[in-house]
Amino acid sequence: MSNTERISFDDLKRDVIDRGICDMCRGCVSFCSADSLHALTVKDNKPAYLNEDACLKCGICYMICPNTEDLEDALKSKYDYQLPIGRHLAVESLRTKNPELRPICTDGGMVTSFLHYLLESGYIHGAVVSRKVGLWNNQPMIAMNLWDLMEGAGSSMAVSSTVEDLGDLTTYVPTMLAIRSLRASDMTRIAFVGTPCQIKTLRKMQLLRIVPAHIVRITIGLFCYENFNFTIEGRKKLEEKIKTSLDKVVKINVKDDFIVKLDDGSSVHIDLDELGDLVRPECIPCTDFSCYTADISVGGLGSPDGYTTTMIRNRQAQTLVEEAIANGYLEKGTETGEDKLVADIEKMAWRKYNRGKDKQKQLGIPL
Ligand SMILES: Cc1cc2nc3c(=O)[nH]c(=O)nc-3n(C[C@H](O)[C@H](O)[C@H](O)COP(=O)(O)OP(=O)(O)OC[C@H]3O[C@@H](n4cnc5c(N)ncnc54)[C@H](O)[C@@H]3O)c2cc1C
Repeated sequence: MSNTERISFDDLKRDVIDRGICDMCRGCVSFCSADSLHALTVKDNKPAYLNEDACLKCGICYMICPNTEDLEDALKSKYDYQLPIGRHLAVESLRTKNPELRPICTDGGMVTSFLHYLLESGYIHGAVVSRKVGLWNNQPMIAMNLWDLMEGAGSSMAVSSTVEDLGDLTTYVPTMLAIRSLRASDMTRIAFVGTPCQIKTLRKMQLLRIVPAHIVRITIGLFCYENFNFTIEGRKKLEEKIKTSLDKVVKINVKDDFIVKLDDGSSVHIDLDELGDLVRPECIPCTDFSCYTADISVGGLGSPDGYTTTMIRNRQAQTLVEEAIANGYLEKGTETGEDKLVADIEKMAWRKYNRGKDKQKQLGIPL
């Protein structure tokens, strides 16, 4: 696209939505410059024109989309991206020191306890996370205290139903809606937890100085091989795989495979490439497993059960994690060395990168 051409939502529709690679982060709809003129809406669970004549052709929707090429080079340069997992100062296994949190968190509760420290120390006023509503439902929320954080803890794999499409359950939580709601808030320092695509949207907004992206002071990126759609069909498939009813599922987790914990204490492990229709198709072209634009990236991969693998990517993040440890919120696991953790993350990151590149070639995407 030449520099003199005006970019509109039509370009986003052509390059992303019609290609079937829209992540539904809702950045485009939430931060449209013609918001007050109601230019865009969500229709059939995808961004769409509500009032085409109102589009200002400002290009914001296109530029902040995590699946357009615009600003990719700027991000790679700013975050010093090197394949396959990006810049990092340290990688360690961490867990919460609060024994009440351990059973309710996804892995080691690093995220919940770290955010608790950031709130208590006054470093942030709130944190954008997701809240579990029943086992199969998630919503974005702004946590302002430990009780809110506890509501969000461990919600990673609860599935989210969106207001627009209650029948189509997905692990994808539209956290950009929470960012949008902060435009009218007096909070000036927040943390943001999200998947690589969500943090990429936020980083693109920060590059363009779109309000209120500037109030996000620290980002925690979740390792992500893919998101999941628990449609009626998908839920049936999962029941076939686990050979029992979904009513027996107490927890779902993802490390280097898909782990379903059942109410009798047993676990079923399923290879991520065997999940078929459960995988959200929009995620397949994505190549970023470790969330290279985050300040801290986390997952269960590589660490012993009950610990969170934590990649610390810059000095500010390192200082804050050290403070959280020194103040008794977090503790280090010593079982797994850094080299092994890095090797495990790199292996998954290459796996996702190669799958994504193959899919991009098929779709003719120049990402
Ligand atoms: C869709 C998805 C895919 C993942 N894939 C992998 C993987 O392939 N390999 C791997 O090792 N790890 C993966 N993870 C990360 C892993 O599941 C844990 O979230 C991570 O290890 C942190 O564990 P914790 O115990 O420290 O987090 P907790 O202390 O339990 O806190 C997790 C925090 O993240 C928030 N949160 C959860 N889901 C979302 C979301 N979708 N959007 C915004 N905030 C959210 C929660 O509200 C909570 O505040 C994935 C997570 C998600 C959501």
